[in-house]
Formats: sequence, C-alpha cells, structure tokens
Amino acid sequence: MTEKSYTDLRCEQISENIKRIRNEIAEAAIKSGRRPEDVRLMAVTKTVDTCFINHAISECGIDLIGENKVQEFLSKEDELLPCEAHLIGHLQTNKVKQIVGRVKCIQSVDSVKVAKEISKQSVLKNVNTDILLEVNIGHDDAKFGISPESLDEIIDEIAELESITVRGLMTIPPICDDIVKTQRFFENMYRLFLDIQAKKSDNVRVSVLSQGMSADYVPAILAGSNLVRVGSAIFGDRTY
Ligand SMILES: *Cc1c(COP(=O)(O)O)cnc(C)c1O
Repeated sequence: MTEKSYTDLRCEQISENIKRIRNEIAEAAIKSGRRPEDVRLMAVTKTVDTCFINHAISECGIDLIGENKVQEFLSKEDELLPCEAHLIGHLQTNKVKQIVGRVKCIQSVDSVKVAKEISKQSVLKNVNTDILLEVNIGHDDAKFGISPESLDEIIDEIAELESITVRGLMTIPPICDDIVKTQRFFENMYRLFLDIQAKKSDNVRVSVLSQGMSADYVPAILAGSNLVRVGSAIFGDRTY
C-alpha cells in the first residue's frame, strides 16, 4: 500500500467535513420547517490553497465560495474552477473598482458610501451586482456593519442606486460563550429580515439571510438563516 500524501489526507478530511456539515444543515432545516435545499452552504476559503478549494468544488459539490479580501480573491481567481463567489469581508471604497464584476455578490456592504461606489463601478462595467447589507446586530464596536436602527433609512437610500440589487442581510454576531445570547442575535436578525422583505422596489429583492459560521451554523439555521458561511469546520484551522 502506498502512503497517502498530506494533500490526499487533507482532501479526504475536507470531504468528510462537508458531508457531516450537510447532514447537520439538513437536520436543522427540517427542524425549522424548511427543506435541506432551502439553506445554502458557502465554503469560506480565506487562507486556503486553491487545490483544496477546487477539491471542494469538483469532488464535494460546493457551488458557493466566500473570500474576505479583494487581493486574496484576485490572486486565486485564475486557478479556481468555475464557482459562484461572494466577497464577505469589509470592503474599502478604493477597492470597489477591482472587485465589481468579479464576484456575484458583495455580502459586506456597510455604508451608503460603499454602496454608491459599487453602483458607480457596476454602471461603468455594465454589470449588475447583488449586495447584502451587513448588520451589526450586537452593536459591537469591534465590528463593521449598519446599526439595526438605521437599516430602514439606509435601504431607502440604496434603493435609489442603479445596477445593484439588495438581496438581503448578513451578520456576524458578537463573540460570546453563551449560545442562548447568540441565538437571540440570530432571531433579531430574522425579524429585521422579515421587515425588509416587505419592502418592494426595483432593486430591493430580499431573499437571503446570511448568518452562521463554523461554531454556530445550527442555531443560526434554527433562527431562520438560509445561507451559512463555513470556513474552519470544512478546511480545518486557519494558519495565517
Ligand atoms: C472567516 C469568516 C467566516 C467563516 O469563519 P469560520 O469560523 O472559519 O467558519 C464567515 N464569515 C465571515 C465574514 C468570515 O470572515
């Protein structure tokens, strides 16, 4: 028997992880009155080599990936198999130009200013960009995001912009060791999500609630999430 390489072993681990996570997602979806396919699994690929990302795409059926940094995504893009990609990390206005047209959705829109620039660049490139609004649901000073109180007003302003579509909300709740508290943040997000779903305009078509990461995707789904962003539980701990 030939010895397996590190790469082979890691690929096997990734396959197992995805299988297990899919089962848990399916269970949580059913528990919350939905179908397994109603919840999308995003593989978060920051710091992960493209060979492992491509394994997840070609061998495990991953059809959605998320990257945090514009530069990192662009450096990997040419080596990646075809797959829907979203930007999920904080986006500076001066980097918008580089990312518009390269990803289907920018999940981390946290100001009217950045939304305006995404709109401007989308017009120039003749593309439409989907966006999610990142909400700072825990009023956490250490996090980016729109405060829940100003969400309504900000959506109304963004609704005026061309060539972008608001598809929903994204959040990262404050780190806390009490899962009950975390669950409450997710439930508050779900309420906001239902509120803004009622808004109807040409470029506000809300259907996505992106919440839940490796440590908390099950409670997030139970509270109504329909897109979970999972990194380390798929690819292993990150080494920077
Ligand atoms: C890194 C990251 C994730 C995934 O985190 P894990 O805990 O590794 O699953 C999800 N969302 C965002 C915005 C991230 O930056």
